[in-house]
Amino acid sequence: ASKQRGRNRFLFFDSEMGAEASERNQLEVELMRALEKREFVLYFQPRYDLRSNQVVSAEALVRWRHPVRGLVMPGKFIPICEETGIIEELGQFVLEEGCNQAIEWHRRGLDIGLSINVSPRQFSGDKLMETLRAFSQRPDFPNGYVELEITETALIGDLEMIAQKLRAITDLGFRIAIDDFGTGYSNLSYITRFPLNCLKIDKSFVDQLPDTIPIIQLILTMAAQIGVTTVAEGVETAEQIEQLAVSGCEQVQGYYFTKPVPLEAFEETTRRLNENGFSIDAGDAPEA
Ligand code: C2E
Ligand code: MG
Ligand code: MG
Ligand code: MG
Repeated sequence: ASKQRGRNRFLFFDSEMGAEASERNQLEVELMRALEKREFVLYFQPRYDLRSNQVVSAEALVRWRHPVRGLVMPGKFIPICEETGIIEELGQFVLEEGCNQAIEWHRRGLDIGLSINVSPRQFSGDKLMETLRAFSQRPDFPNGYVELEITETALIGDLEMIAQKLRAITDLGFRIAIDDFGTGYSNLSYITRFPLNCLKIDKSFVDQLPDTIPIIQLILTMAAQIGVTTVAEGVETAEQIEQLAVSGCEQVQGYYFTKPVPLEAFEETTRRLNENGFSIDAGDAPEA
């Protein structure tokens, strides 16, 4: 009887794994179809400047408007896209859509920057530079308003080659931010070797405030030394923002202000935040 149960358990385990694998395969096929059908859409999360008390830019975050599953979050599909290479095409879509949006905002006189996430695979591919060059040559391209968010994992390898690529990107008028800063395990010396504009302090440090104040202080000091902007990611409470502001963090982004919103809601959300976002004096949260 025990042998029987053992076999059953094995079979059960085996079919579970099979189900997981086939779900991934199905997702892969669906992702390619979704790209063709243009089911991906950008949401925008404001980045708030604690000195001017204004929204200064937005981060573009991709979502999948699935006809049956509804709105699918990037955590569900970006890793599969990265593994299969679909990310190069998806990233290309996000980059083009994002740059066009930045141009459109600028054309309408909105003084707002846009940050676009670039995956490691997309960063090492050839298409990226070609697209950036094409956008930078447009007469209406807003120089210095589009920022590429790159994680430390994309910056591993031939450091000289990476430095050259980053230099070429910044020469074209794009900014470079390090996303999820502090969570990678790479050699920190890159931050003086690479042309950087911004460090985005990972949400995990914000979550663990005030315990992480020494780490955040260290990052802020380093950032000031190399002359880059600092943004704290994933701020959810007024206490966190106050601690960050007192420490000298310049900008913040998080659910405290708003979740990422679709384009239709972005300008109204920004207007509301500019009127009543956060101030150290008032200190209270905007109406939900
Ligand atoms: P990320 O670039 O670090 O983006 C920040 C993530 O934190 C976003 O999740 C955002 O919605 C979420 N977030 C912001 N504030 C808060 C907060 O206060 N609390 C909590 N709990 N979460 C907050 P999202 O949109 O689900 O994206 C997850 C990750 O997927 C991104 O992390 C990024 O690595 C990746 N991703 C999203 N869009 C793209 C894209 O277009 N291209 C690439 N390559 N990756 C993307
Ligand atoms: Mg990001
Ligand atoms: Mg991040
Ligand atoms: Mg992240």
